[in-house]
Amino acid sequence: MHILSERGVNHVKCPSQDVYSSASAKKRGTIAAQGALLSLLSLFSFATYSAHVTDGPYVFLDQGKENTAYWICQSELKQTPIANNQLARPNDCGNLPQPVRHSEAPQVEADTYTHAGKIIALSDVHGQFDVMINLLKAHKIIDENNHWAFGDGHMVMTGDMFDRGHQVNEVLWFLYELDKEAQAAGGRLHLLMGNHEQMVFRGDLRYINERYKTSTELLDRSYDALYNKDTEIGRWLRSKNTLVKINNLLFMHGGISPEWVERKLNISDANQLFRQHLDDKKEDLKQNDLLNFLFFTNGPTWYRGYFKDVLSEQEIDHILNYFKVDHIIVGHTSQERVLGLYHNKIIAIDSSIKNGKSGELLLIDQDKLTRGLYQGEQEPL
Ligand code: ZN
Repeated sequence: MHILSERGVNHVKCPSQDVYSSASAKKRGTIAAQGALLSLLSLFSFATYSAHVTDGPYVFLDQGKENTAYWICQSELKQTPIANNQLARPNDCGNLPQPVRHSEAPQVEADTYTHAGKIIALSDVHGQFDVMINLLKAHKIIDENNHWAFGDGHMVMTGDMFDRGHQVNEVLWFLYELDKEAQAAGGRLHLLMGNHEQMVFRGDLRYINERYKTSTELLDRSYDALYNKDTEIGRWLRSKNTLVKINNLLFMHGGISPEWVERKLNISDANQLFRQHLDDKKEDLKQNDLLNFLFFTNGPTWYRGYFKDVLSEQEIDHILNYFKVDHIIVGHTSQERVLGLYHNKIIAIDSSIKNGKSGELLLIDQDKLTRGLYQGEQEPL
């Protein structure tokens, strides 16, 4: 079952070794006991650091690997066969998820819904699996065993699952399974793409967590290749929309700038363009006027204009009228809580889950807007 396991611990970089070597150089000639103690401490922290990397699973669809799951268990690479679409964790591999693979290739879903009932939204989870699960359980969106409990409701995640945090893969596999469970119950999970999904897909890896360096070394792939279009998770993510309209609400990661309206764009064309160009290089996107708008500063995954006091309420109304909606719901620009701006016409839902300690949801039932707090309390927005 072990492959390449001989590459395991030896390839893990150890920050404490550098500290020790510079420290020992300075202290050369001091008493031997001090040196021995430092050496012991150094070895201890090396062992702790390297033995703790447990990650996965990863499923690659190319090179005949589609029926194998890859796992990092205590800094060793292991693989298990996928039987009946069930991924089975090896022994001694912590609490890693054991998802059931969807058998068919993902379908592109609708991006406009009317007559939806209850809705919840959250954003910018950034690899903070435990915080996300706590919030969803506290508000009964999922049950005690992390399964969909929201019936025919709609759950919207407005992007930035990737980067910063240490449980990105756990977040993705959980949502991958929840997606199917929601549909089976008559509900929907809308997983919208944020700027950090785009960055990872095109190989901008400045924000990845230290944990994943071990995984990329053992799997002998760059981090973006763990989620490229020839991976189970990567293929699924690339089917997703970037904007969704539900009832009188429009959701996206960053926001809609006046430039969108000047360009007379529509949601479906934009979603299609985002899907088509998610893997394009930055310099290629920059050379196309429309793609340069969509993917960067004033586009829907990066825009921050609502938070800079540059738009009047009239300009906000103009944008809302263009889409025939009453509210635009955005993540991306971090707040301490779910926050209404411009008389709740704009609702900011990046509640700083990325800090790993707390967060909030937005609950919408008809015209009632409610903050879902971390411990389960609810307050009107
Ligand atoms: Zn963002």
